[in-house]
Amino acid sequence: MRNVLILPGDGIGPEVTEQCIKIIDLINSKSKNVIKYQRALFGGASIDDCGEPLSKKVLDIAMKSDAVFLGAVGGPKWETMEHDLKPEKGLLTLRKELQTFANLRPGKVFSSLASASSLRPEILNGTDIFVVRELTGGIYFGEPRFSKEIDGKRIASNPLIYNEDEIARVAKSAFEIARKRNKKVTSLDKANVLEVMQLWRDVVTEVHENAYSDIELEHLYIDNAAMQVIKRPSTFDVILASNLFGDIISDEVAELTGSLGMLPSASIGESKAIYEPVHGSAPDIAGQNIANPIAAILSLAMMYKYSFNEDNISDKIDQAITEVLDEGNRTRDISTDNNNVLNCNQMGDLIVSKLEQKL
Ligand code: NAD
Repeated sequence: MRNVLILPGDGIGPEVTEQCIKIIDLINSKSKNVIKYQRALFGGASIDDCGEPLSKKVLDIAMKSDAVFLGAVGGPKWETMEHDLKPEKGLLTLRKELQTFANLRPGKVFSSLASASSLRPEILNGTDIFVVRELTGGIYFGEPRFSKEIDGKRIASNPLIYNEDEIARVAKSAFEIARKRNKKVTSLDKANVLEVMQLWRDVVTEVHENAYSDIELEHLYIDNAAMQVIKRPSTFDVILASNLFGDIISDEVAELTGSLGMLPSASIGESKAIYEPVHGSAPDIAGQNIANPIAAILSLAMMYKYSFNEDNISDKIDQAITEVLDEGNRTRDISTDNNNVLNCNQMGDLIVSKLEQKL
């Protein structure tokens, strides 16, 4: 039995999550490996219920689950609260407690949506990039961090520190993912000027030589990579990057694909993982049943692949989405001509019925 905790959250979170639950129910009805799931309050919804964004009870369930699926959190109602009580704090605590050290952000261009990108379709054609970003180390966590005044001058510091274990474990994740894809990893660093990035390059090379020689490994300096991703996006498969470089390059890759409503993500650790769409709770459209559920459904497809090794099911969900889009169906955010515009439920139902034909 696989146990999944579902945290719909706030705003459009519950709307897009319900579409994912329809898909889990369908797959459960056709498969021996059933997913047992339970919903719980999280973020603003939990604050309203018990005064905190992530209650101990919910955290305990998360720790015992095989995976956590999250909609989105936040909204104007809770924006003025103290930092530590805000909905987003629940998310940071959850990631920390589950020790999810690798953030996975795929950026796949659906050919039927290529015109929504800022790049020309002929450059984008075939682009399917998967960014693996180190999430719990590097410059965002380096100590001593400070901002102070010395002799009348303001000075601030955030050290960039990695040890070899932190680099090796995220490198392994990237190579494992590449094995399930097109068997190429491009590792980003700045080894020409930073010792810590030379260590990054050395460790990635060692991990590759020791266990992943079937995967092609390319090293790029981050500045060059920022250009190459725009120039030749379709030649990349998995991009491996430190926390800071990964933060930046994953947004660059996201821009290639066009819409926030299409971007899934996962944060994975040794044994736990959190799956969630990249977008937030979209308060401007919440409650209207017009959100695009595809980012959430693609996140669910990632859960089947990376937590449960069900590549076949995961690929079928992806195919169902591709076909629905190829037939011209759109939610409002990805529509260019207002034809075939579906609401959130209708898009979910269409993907469910396409998937049903494949199972
Ligand atoms: P947002 O992603 O919620 O929305 C940005 C814009 O994109 C909005 O115009 C919204 O309508 C649109 N959009 C987003 N997802 C969409 C979808 N699935 N379908 C159609 N349109 C979509 O970002 P924001 O407005 O900056 O943040 C709103 C709230 O969400 C804030 O409280 C923020 O802190 C929170 N947030 C949460 C997460 C998370 O839960 N992981 C991530 C980002 C922001």
